[in-house]
Amino acid sequence: YKVTKAEFIKSGTRPSHFPPPLQPEIAFGGASNVGKSSLINSLVGRNKLVKTSKTPGHTQTINFFNINDELVFVDLPGYGFAKVPLEVKAAWGPMMERYLGGRPTLRAIVCVMDLRRGVRDDDMMLIESAPLFGIQPILVFTKADKFGKNAGQQRLREIARELGCPPGELVLYSSTNGQGGEQLWDRIRQVTGV
Ligand code: GDP
Repeated sequence: YKVTKAEFIKSGTRPSHFPPPLQPEIAFGGASNVGKSSLINSLVGRNKLVKTSKTPGHTQTINFFNINDELVFVDLPGYGFAKVPLEVKAAWGPMMERYLGGRPTLRAIVCVMDLRRGVRDDDMMLIESAPLFGIQPILVFTKADKFGKNAGQQRLREIARELGCPPGELVLYSSTNGQGGEQLWDRIRQVTGV
């Protein structure tokens, strides 16, 4: 899939701020610092589409991006940052519910995790909430370049066993070398029909 256009649309915290749901949408969620911004940037081949510098405690927003005028990518606020103020933490759930429950065009949520850390409790909540909103979760394990080729595959199989799912359902990814890009795009094309 070739990205010829990738641009920021807008950001917001509540449905009245969101762009009208017109194009098939893919959301990206994950813990803070897991590599979600880098993953989106590498996937669309734009180094600075998603800003990677984040101040903990900063207001967390949902950011919408137009991809080729036919897809919308949504960067969800990262969770699990210990230093985030309690009121920001408390607002995360309701904000997510309003978003997930209000986007008829949303096709899948890409759950970004660190291959080294695997699936944590916070991740499990996101993964399990997706089907409640009729949305498919796509599980992606990034920073695969931190492992050797075989060790990365082995770690992925271990995670698949823990989850009780076929390893082929999980995507092994690296933003630094592009590994897994084709597989993730295949999944995105499959669910959006682009
Ligand atoms: P976010 O908070 O989830 O958006 O995380 P970032 O994309 O800002 O990445 C957090 C840190 O991990 C940064 O220092 C990145 O350079 C690094 N990083 C992200 N993805 C990868 C990857 O695939 N491989 C390696 N080696 N480092 C990565």
